[in-house]
Amino acid sequence: MKKRVFVVLFMLGLCYLLIKIEPFLQEDVKIKSLRLSNNSDTSQHKASQTTRKIHVENSDIYQGNLLLVNKQFTVQQESVRTDIVNLFDHQNLMQGYGVLDNNIRLSEEVAQKFMDMVAAANKDGVKGFLISSGYRDFKQQNALYEEMGSEYALPAGNSEHNLGLSLDVGSTQSKMSEAPEGRWIEKNAWKYGFVLRYPKDKIDITGIKYEPWHIRYVGLPHSAIMHERNYVLEEYLSYLQEEREISVKVKGKVYTISYYPASQTPAIEVPINLAI
Ligand SMILES: [Zn+2]
Repeated sequence: MKKRVFVVLFMLGLCYLLIKIEPFLQEDVKIKSLRLSNNSDTSQHKASQTTRKIHVENSDIYQGNLLLVNKQFTVQQESVRTDIVNLFDHQNLMQGYGVLDNNIRLSEEVAQKFMDMVAAANKDGVKGFLISSGYRDFKQQNALYEEMGSEYALPAGNSEHNLGLSLDVGSTQSKMSEAPEGRWIEKNAWKYGFVLRYPKDKIDITGIKYEPWHIRYVGLPHSAIMHERNYVLEEYLSYLQEEREISVKVKGKVYTISYYPASQTPAIEVPINLAI
């Protein structure tokens, strides 16, 4: 509970910090810790910023793309994305890939990001993407859990699929661990805000077996940092909690990411414009 609270407050700050993203000019990701607030660069930088206060409501605590859902942290009903759509009813969101059946649902925003990613993969000649599962409501998750058992599915509320931010992606070529689609995702998904949520080398942290098909939307610049540092979401959130403030340059744009504990005042101060 505590962790999730932290994350959402952090995301609130982030909303005011993000700069519009432009097409790739470079793929470098440069991360800098701003933890030492007496660092002269940081002090100067802060002094020159105009800030404003954001008031945080209790309901805000459970919002955002960085929500952590695992066996320990469950999905709150208010965390479910409100822009869930049935993909089959939105053919404009289904360009460049297929769906396993006509009932697959997903956050509209995430579907758009996925389509952008697939368009880039298509340009690289990788064209066999197939979504096999997207958003699942608690009832569907429970049915899956009861039918498949704990080896294959998580209980209702403990699956990221219940948020609307995760999807399972297959390949029409072969199984994802060997398919060009799987390899492409592993290498490039971060550029579009997605991460492979259950990698082979992080089973001891995630508690979930290797799933080359399950991707999660966290958004940029988070996906870039996670890729650069080889962090899964659990590790990334601990890292932010420890650092409190970092600066990252992605695609030629500079972001500052700040982490606010929920136990702090209900108002947080963020810069109005972070363009450097
Ligand atoms: Zn999945």
